[in-house]
Amino acid sequence: MLRRIDYGDYDLIITFFTPDSGKVSVIAKSAKRSKKRFAGILELFSVLQVVFSRGRGLPVLQEATLNQPFIKIRTDIKKTAYASYWAELINEWIEEGEAQVRLYELFLYVLGELDIGNIPEPVLSILFQMKFMSISGFYPNLTHCNLCGIEMENMKKNRIMFDLEGGGIVCEKCVSPLLSTHDPGRRGPVRRIYISKGTIKQLLWFENGNLEKSGRVRFSRQSLREGLEFSEAFVPYHLGKMPRSLAFLRQIRRDA
Ligand SMILES: [Zn+2]
Repeated sequence: MLRRIDYGDYDLIITFFTPDSGKVSVIAKSAKRSKKRFAGILELFSVLQVVFSRGRGLPVLQEATLNQPFIKIRTDIKKTAYASYWAELINEWIEEGEAQVRLYELFLYVLGELDIGNIPEPVLSILFQMKFMSISGFYPNLTHCNLCGIEMENMKKNRIMFDLEGGGIVCEKCVSPLLSTHDPGRRGPVRRIYISKGTIKQLLWFENGNLEKSGRVRFSRQSLREGLEFSEAFVPYHLGKMPRSLAFLRQIRRDA
């Protein structure tokens, strides 16, 4: 369950993420008033088996059975903040009725691990975002200079500039002309981030490696910070929208 919003005094509009039909929004009648109607199981991030009927307007939820409640996510504000951010990215990106099996499996995996709690939350979030980028087709170029093509391994400096707009890393030789280019049509500064080589290697590992192994990758504190900074800048940039849940997540992280 990706999203739930109140609809009038009695009903809820619920958006489910399904393996074969992508995003599906349904109306759950009397779900707000009567706890009995759906036995209080219509909670965010839970995995349900649902039956709904199509007709005019929104499909109507008929039955719901709980498969996995992920209670530990909902009772922990930091876990809730991470799951809300991932859910908002999915909700923003996918269309109603469009199958997204790989993304579904990814979301199920990170929610499951978030609930269990063995993998640090920032690691899961970087993993989710790297995979999300490659599944949704806007994966960043982290392997060679976006401008001259020299490989990342052959770049001299350890801290490498990532150009958000160009979607790739830029070597030390190409950086200076780029920094001095003045584009009068552009509003605000060029968006760029610096990432060290070690972090880039780990990000690439996440993009290409399998899920279970990726969860066991160990990050240094610096890599965690850089990985979060990079993914939380690049993903919203390419989505063209700042997710509201990201501001909330950052607030929670600061307070923790
Ligand atoms: Zn270059």
